[in-house]
Formats: sequence, structure tokens, C-alpha cells
Amino acid sequence: MGEKINVKDIVQRKKNELKDEIERIKQKNAIPKLAVILASDDEASKIYVGKKRKMCEELGILQEEYVLESSTTTQEVKAIIEKLNDDSSVNGILVQLPLYKHLDMDEILDTISYKKDVDGFHPLTLGKLFIGEKETFISCTPKGIMTILDDIKTEYEGKHAVIVGRSRIVGKPISQLLLKRGATVTICHSKTKDISVFTKQADILVAAVGKPHIITKDMVKEGAIVVDVGINRVDGKILGDVDTENVLEVCSKITPVPGGVGLTTVLSLLENVVQAFKEQNNIN
Ligand code: NAP
Repeated sequence: MGEKINVKDIVQRKKNELKDEIERIKQKNAIPKLAVILASDDEASKIYVGKKRKMCEELGILQEEYVLESSTTTQEVKAIIEKLNDDSSVNGILVQLPLYKHLDMDEILDTISYKKDVDGFHPLTLGKLFIGEKETFISCTPKGIMTILDDIKTEYEGKHAVIVGRSRIVGKPISQLLLKRGATVTICHSKTKDISVFTKQADILVAAVGKPHIITKDMVKEGAIVVDVGINRVDGKILGDVDTENVLEVCSKITPVPGGVGLTTVLSLLENVVQAFKEQNNIN
């Protein structure tokens, strides 16, 4: 019988470490600052922006928000980003997704200076990740997954990591991070013929699909470590991509949903803001 990973505990410890680091930075009379742009009336996005604001306050990071009307244009959003790129008091810029439908997401994200790209979605940031450069930002969900896997002392070398999902924000970046650590990586997606052929070989299985309980017990190798990224709202409940209660009978460890990978996302963002601050101010 496997166990659910206590992600809440991991996040609390990491938050304390980050808070101490921010305190040390403040002693040098400087405070890291994040700028957040909300150009959407999506209710979930407003909640996510609120969570980011709350954790910034808790950890002592400055935060400013730009809440834009539905009449805003791509050019106007780009103009705000350009101003923030040039503002040396701002260390990180985050554009909350999704945007109002008429806005050009690629054009907007590409305007963020990669030095302030704390969400890690800029093509240059992703390119640096793919060629294995150290000094880059890792997008928040994949970074959070690695925080969890590292914390439970996962062995990567010689292990087979299978990722189900190939999105820009989860599947692709996590594949590169696991590859960099020495795992052999397979990526499955909607065109893969029979994903169970691959999932059954996984020592580390990451499910980032967005389909409730698509990963069932018979698809999981005995002793596997399972990371469930999925957040699916079904009949008022939040379900992951993995049928957790049954998969627990075969896996060694699994991240719960809710209370799993999702908890690490805001933490990773603020770790990236502190990293940006240090890089911009030549602090090690
Ligand atoms: P996405 O952009 O929709 O990508 C989903 C991926 O799953 C795609 O690559 C798709 O393949 C693949 N897929 C769809 N159906 C499949 C099937 N039947 N078999 C195999 N692969 C299949 O989603 P995402 O943004 O990566 O998010 C995935 C899930 O994670 C969602 O539930 C989302 O809410 C959640 N999420 C959670 C967090 C968190 O903090 N916990 C953060 C981000 C996302 P194709 O590429 O071929 O279409």
C-alpha cells in the first residue's frame, strides 16, 4: 500500500525558508517586487491573483496589480509591460492567463523581458530550459513538481519517467527537468495509441491531462511514484487525473488532489521573484 505525499508540510517548510531569505534581503534595504496584470473577468483567475497577493503579503514581497477593463487592447497591455520591463524596482512580471479572448496572448507574453519572466512562459526562457542552462526561470507548476520529487528524495538516474500530457505549461517543461536529472523520459498525449503500454513502465508517472481519473490502477507499475497534476471539477468536487484511492494499492507514493501539486504553484512563483531579484542585483 502506497502513501499520499504530505505536500502541505513540504510547502510550509519551503515557505519558511523563503521568508528567512527575504528577511536577509530586506536587511540590505531592498525588497523584491512582483507586478501582476489581470486582463480577464474569469472568476478563477481573480481567485488565483488573490492567492498570489496573500502569499506576497505573508512573505514580505511587494506586489502591484494592474486590473484591466474588457475594452483594453493588446497594444495597451504591451505598453504596460514595456514600462514594467524598464522599471528597475520591479523584479518579476506575471500576466494572469487566460486573457480576454480578443487579446493576443503570444504577442503579450513575448513582450515580457525574459529577465523578469517569473512565470517561465517566454520562448527564450523555455529555450534556455530546453538547452539546459541554469540561469533561467522554471515555470511554476513543473518547478513545484520537482520541489516535491526532490523533497521525497526521488532517484532519477536510470529510472523511466512517463508524462501524460505535452502542454507548454506542464508536460513539455517537466519532461526536460526530468531528463536533465538523468531519467529516461517518455511523453504521451492524445494521439498516443495506448497510453497504458507506457504508463505501466513508469517508475515516475506524471499525469497532466485534465481528464478525471484517466489513470487507473491497472495502468500503474508496482512501486511507482505518481504525480497527479490534474484539477477537474466534477459535481462540485475537485478530482485529479488519477484514481488515487485505487492506485494507492500499487504505487509507493502519490500526490493528493486537492492539496497536492496545486499548493506548490504560488510558492514556486515567489521563489522565482526572489531569484529574479538576486540576479538583477548580483546577489548570490
Ligand atoms: P492542456 O494544455 O489541456 O494539455 C493537456 C494534455 O493532455 C495535452 O497534451 C493533450 O494531448 C493530453 N491529452 C488529452 N487527452 C488525452 C488522452 N485521452 N490521453 C493522453 N493524453 C491526453 O492542459 P494543461 O494546462 O497541461 O493542464 C493539465 C491538467 O493539469 C488540467 O487538469 C489543469 O487544470 C491541471 N493543472 C494544474 C496545475 C496545478 O497547479 N496543480 C497547474 C496547471 C494545470 P494533445 O497535446 O495531443 O492535445
